[in-house]
Amino acid sequence: MTDHAPIPLRELRSDCSRCAGLCCVAHAFQRSSDFAYDKPAGTPCRNLQDDFRCGIHADLRTSGFTGCTVYECFGAGQFVTQQLFDGRTWRDDPAIAADMFAVFGTMRGLHELLWYLTEALALRAAAPLHDEIARLRIEVADVRDAGAGPDAQALVGELLGRVSALARDGLRGRQARGTDLTGANLRRADLHGADLRGALLIGADLRSADLRRADLLGADLRGARLDGADLADALFLTPPQVASARGDRTTRLPAGLDAPAHW
Ligand code: SF4
Repeated sequence: MTDHAPIPLRELRSDCSRCAGLCCVAHAFQRSSDFAYDKPAGTPCRNLQDDFRCGIHADLRTSGFTGCTVYECFGAGQFVTQQLFDGRTWRDDPAIAADMFAVFGTMRGLHELLWYLTEALALRAAAPLHDEIARLRIEVADVRDAGAGPDAQALVGELLGRVSALARDGLRGRQARGTDLTGANLRRADLHGADLRGALLIGADLRSADLRRADLLGADLRGARLDGADLADALFLTPPQVASARGDRTTRLPAGLDAPAHW
């Protein structure tokens, strides 16, 4: 097991300046409200420039590429490009393209797990579990550094469940894990300490809702209204979840998460 220094949170956010445009090539997209045309996996998006930047970055939403504005690789793009492939790119060396794209998907999943574990380590309420969290984070980082490895998702999910229970202990929050709350009217709802893990909150009205300490791991917030909502210490909220929802400058977000440009 490698003795890892903690991975800074900035390394778990996408840095396109150090990536070979992997998300714009590796993934397949279907023409939909999120993407303007059909693109097979492994082919560069027609908007990807020679410098691996997006040629319509400032106009993605008005050009029919809304899905790109809610995508987050959790830093997997720069890790694969710089660490696993030493700065080589699929353009310079087409022979590495298939391997690069395949490992990118795996790394994205592992980086998302590292994001959650890093958040869990910062939670004071989870202090009794900090040693266990730190050990698992090193194990996941080892799997990542090796470029592949056993499925760590189940281990992380189980541990995050215990972290969540500790962080929400005594709050008697609503139990709505996995519940379909699509379009629900939850305006001003008291969801303090609620278990909303995996809940479908697509298009839900959560304006001015109290979501402090709510567990939002994997909750689907696409199109949910968050104006005035308090998510200041919501648990396991990620950048793509925030970007897929609708909020405004009165929405309170956890430290380290910025309001998206389109709010
Ligand atoms: S539209 Fe831009 S951000 Fe989206 S896949 Fe194409 S190049 Fe990438």
